[in-house]
Amino acid sequence: MALYDNHNRPLTYLRLSVTDRCNLRCFYCMPPEGLNWLPKSYLLTFEEIIRLVRLLASLGISKVRITGGEPFVRADLMKLLYRLSEIPGVNELHLTTNGVLTAPYVPELKKLGIASVNLSLDTLDAGRFKAIAHRDELKRVLNTLDSLLQHGIPVKINTVVMEGKNTEDIYPMAGLTRNYPVSVRFIEEMPFNGRGSHYAMLTWNYKKIREHLQAAWPDMKPLPTGPGATATVFEIPGHKGSVGIIAAFSRTFCGTCNRIRVTAQGMLKTCLYDNGVLSLRDLMRSGYSDEQLVSVLLSAFSQRPRNGFDAEANRNTAPVRESMAMIGG
Ligand code: SAM
Ligand code: SF4
Repeated sequence: MALYDNHNRPLTYLRLSVTDRCNLRCFYCMPPEGLNWLPKSYLLTFEEIIRLVRLLASLGISKVRITGGEPFVRADLMKLLYRLSEIPGVNELHLTTNGVLTAPYVPELKKLGIASVNLSLDTLDAGRFKAIAHRDELKRVLNTLDSLLQHGIPVKINTVVMEGKNTEDIYPMAGLTRNYPVSVRFIEEMPFNGRGSHYAMLTWNYKKIREHLQAAWPDMKPLPTGPGATATVFEIPGHKGSVGIIAAFSRTFCGTCNRIRVTAQGMLKTCLYDNGVLSLRDLMRSGYSDEQLVSVLLSAFSQRPRNGFDAEANRNTAPVRESMAMIGG
């Protein structure tokens, strides 16, 4: 079955956050003291997650990404991943992780057929890692990268580009693609930092990142990307991997957006920049049947904003300031 929104965009991709908690404190995502973590009872239970994913898969969602907070902070995550991997219609199961706790689970991820892992890594410098994430964990993240590569799991590295914090890391991060078959994707910093403060204008936007990369590798060439891709991807001749740029703040890709999100507390978001359109958790807990859930889901999908700017303008709460750990990225 194929699922389309009101702008005729196919919906195939669910990003589901399993916790808001995290063992890092990346400054672009949350304050150093952390967040007021949600009480456990606010989170979707595994049964609720499985029920939702089954329903969404029956409607046409075929790709699922598990994210957080840090997914491995949630107890028994592997049990959930195994169960998700068995749901008919879920053809691809992906994971986004900060890599701190991930390495010991890599063999099992391989076994359950994880389609890819997105590893967040903003610098290769231990001092800057600590300054950005407020924890001294670079070594464990690099161990995870090593293990993922050893197990032949496709890896994308997410690098948020932050003015004054890690722009000197752009070249070393892109340099990883020379010897490793990884895709390093540079992401524009967004205001989802739990504080709301952001630049009046984003200096390091996708154009500047591209110019910067092109200055070092003038023969870097764009590669074709699949439908719904958010990254513009480039090959650098002679490199095993690729580099990508995600205009997450400039929002250049909304016209082909194929994704929906469910937050850790079960809120449906049909755009990253909306403030949640439906509490699926509350509906499930109030006794909604599968048919009733499908009906409200389809109605939400038929009212998606055209793009992230419209979604932001239509928010019925304050401007974007919630932590990305609440949403999942
Ligand atoms: N903890 C896991 C991790 O860091 O990979 C998964 C959750 S994290 C919220 C998902 C992604 O969102 C990460 O790659 C992170 O870099 C990105 N992210 C978080 N806050 C962001 C922001 N303000 N702007 C851009 N990307 C952000
Ligand atoms: Fe944690 Fe990921 Fe947010 Fe960093 S980006 S604080 S690792 S949830």
